[in-house]
Amino acid sequence: MKIEIYANDNEKSLKVKRELETKFAERHFVMDAEHPDIVITIGGDGTLLSAFHQYEDQLDSVRFVGIHTGHLGFYTDWRTDELDDLIISLESDNGQAITYPLLDISVRYRDKNKPERYLALNEATLKRIGMTMAADVYIGGELFERFRGDGLCVSTPTGSTAYNKSLGGAVIHPSLDALQLTEIGSLNNLVYRTISSPLIIAPNDWITIFPNETSDYFMTIDQENIYGRDVEQIMFKISKKKIRFAKYRHNAFWKRVQSAFIGDVHEI
Ligand code: NAD
Repeated sequence: MKIEIYANDNEKSLKVKRELETKFAERHFVMDAEHPDIVITIGGDGTLLSAFHQYEDQLDSVRFVGIHTGHLGFYTDWRTDELDDLIISLESDNGQAITYPLLDISVRYRDKNKPERYLALNEATLKRIGMTMAADVYIGGELFERFRGDGLCVSTPTGSTAYNKSLGGAVIHPSLDALQLTEIGSLNNLVYRTISSPLIIAPNDWITIFPNETSDYFMTIDQENIYGRDVEQIMFKISKKKIRFAKYRHNAFWKRVQSAFIGDVHEI
């Protein structure tokens, strides 16, 4: 099994990285940054997001493991005092994985003939800088609404606890293959009308956004920002690809949501 350790540059993460490298060397683990089987991230959810994009062309062969150096994250299950347990799990690894849906984004720019494809683990957003964004929103090829507001966000189930949640979207269990569309600052009055609710789209459906003609768009794909390109249309689907995490122990999704957002609860 080939391993890569992918740490952010904070001091604690780098210290844990060195510790893990020593332990791996003692046990003759094979390190391979080019074609790893397991990518161990050290840091937070943001570190896992960057590692995902670094290896997004190798998702069929790579599985991820997240160690958090701050608070428990959504993609980072392991604590820094559990390195020896993690090594035991790696030594008895039999390829076990848990998979989560990804977002397939296809953007047609006015200056290009072919659409450009992107993959998101959390979400993609389209916003307009300075002025109201107007866009036609299609679901499954049918015009659904003409949106006016700051922007739109389409998220995956694991991304539902990130930006989507701040926009009032629902938290979706990641065993469901679904997309969620949420509005960012929609305008609703006698002239302009949007649904004003998050929409959860079925696995075989797709969302297409046709923004009005201008180039001052701001697009985000997880942590990546794309500015000032003249977007003609964006299509969102559930990707055929999935992210795979090495599943060495059971981490209940709702327990994680509860500890991240609610904390201790006492029965009445
Ligand atoms: P960051 O450092 O600003 O992190 C944002 C926070 O989002 C961190 O606390 C991180 O732990 C958390 N986070 C990331 N993915 C999560 C997930 N799936 N579920 C719950 N929390 C999650 O930014 P970054 O590290 O570059 O991360 C980029 C992400 O930040 C984007 O994908 C987006 O989801 C999120 N974001 C949120 C808002 C908002 O809530 N208003 C705005 C912009 C970006």
